[in-house]
Amino acid sequence: MNIKHTHITKIGPIELGEGSPIVIQTMTNTNTSDIHATVEQTKRVIEAGAEMVRITVPTLKEVEPLREIINILRAEGIKTPIIADVHYLPEVAEAVAVFVDKVRINPGNFVDKREFKTIELSDSEYQESLEKMAQKAQPFIEICKKHNTAIRVGVNQGSLCDRIVSRYGNTPEAMVHSALEWIDLCERFEFTNLVFSLKSSNVNTMIRATRLLYEMMNHRGFNFPIHLGVTEAADGMEGRVKSAIGIGALLLHQIGNTIRVSLTEDPQNEILFAKKLVQAISLFEVTHYTVQDQTLLITSDQKDKESWWAECGAVAGYFHYDQVFRDVIIQNKNFSKKECTDLANTILQGCRIKLSKTEIIACPSCGRTQYDIQKVLSLVKERFSQYPNLKIGVMGCVVNGPGEMADADIGIIGSANGKMAVYKGTQRISPFLAIDDAFQILENEIKKLNLKQI
Ligand code: SF4
Repeated sequence: MNIKHTHITKIGPIELGEGSPIVIQTMTNTNTSDIHATVEQTKRVIEAGAEMVRITVPTLKEVEPLREIINILRAEGIKTPIIADVHYLPEVAEAVAVFVDKVRINPGNFVDKREFKTIELSDSEYQESLEKMAQKAQPFIEICKKHNTAIRVGVNQGSLCDRIVSRYGNTPEAMVHSALEWIDLCERFEFTNLVFSLKSSNVNTMIRATRLLYEMMNHRGFNFPIHLGVTEAADGMEGRVKSAIGIGALLLHQIGNTIRVSLTEDPQNEILFAKKLVQAISLFEVTHYTVQDQTLLITSDQKDKESWWAECGAVAGYFHYDQVFRDVIIQNKNFSKKECTDLANTILQGCRIKLSKTEIIACPSCGRTQYDIQKVLSLVKERFSQYPNLKIGVMGCVVNGPGEMADADIGIIGSANGKMAVYKGTQRISPFLAIDDAFQILENEIKKLNLKQI
């Protein structure tokens, strides 16, 4: 597959960009301070096919455990690039940049903050605020330059800072501006070992924002590699199909260099599906599929269920990129009629063309998660799937969860002792309670919305 012209970014032994194959990555969800568990999970995902592995570093306390994890892996001859995931604390980014292959930062919280307030800034105040960000970022960028460490500027729709949202709205354009500010900043400090990502739980936003960034970069005469992913895609068929639509839409239009399928499951499952998705994309032939009267017909003879989901999701993404269909018919003699209809409905839901059940927005969890999110997610799906006009968030931590599920109507977040709190928008509306009590509040709040049920 020909990926359009991109700058080459080096991440340890991996070259990302022009002429390089699509690189598959995932993130661990163990506690980073649990060195043994994190090493073991990292080894398992690498064995499953992960070519890069991201590990969260929530505070300075996790810096030394991460160093130790990398030392153990390298001592065993494992050269897979390790990426540190850093939010809020530039000092953590500076500390890990010395020994990891790449640092992911979130421009929404690197210096600026998201307190969900509207802030009116004049042009000169806006420039001052950019200057403040540049000064804070410079030491980190200089360390990365010195140690050949790559940076991923990972913009998430749910964690754009107040400054950006106040000026550009919570829109794909705002996400692009957030990334462009970092391009300008890195250009100023002559740093180009960069990767960008623009993620959202809404497939349409993720496609539009990434496409726009790609076009803007092209316009300015350079193209840094792009990391693709649909964030908070949840689990099962929904999570896989949503990811296949968003990632497939862009890869099949030759945009993107590395992918992460986010699932609220074991990270190995992310890798297994990502491999099937890359395989489906490599086999794609546009002439195999037709769109007539705005109905996309996908006839497949795939026997493996997940490969079939990957194929149909990516094909739908390819056509959804230009919004050419409003309905989907799926045919496959290896699966029942009901399975074909369920998949078609899941695609229509993922594209937000036709909603047939509750939309679940659930993060994949990471080292910040201190409760059994997979179990809670399955209970939420079991009990609250019957509302086509409802979006429920299930998030792994109170630090990033409220912002990241801002697209949800209502949500639930767990804490260390297994207690859960209910959120409406970004506001907590209950104390942390035992799960049954929190679910009761969730149910009462949903009932108040008087929504249509299936
Ligand atoms: S929202 Fe989920 S994935 Fe994001 S930092 Fe919190 S636990 Fe980790």
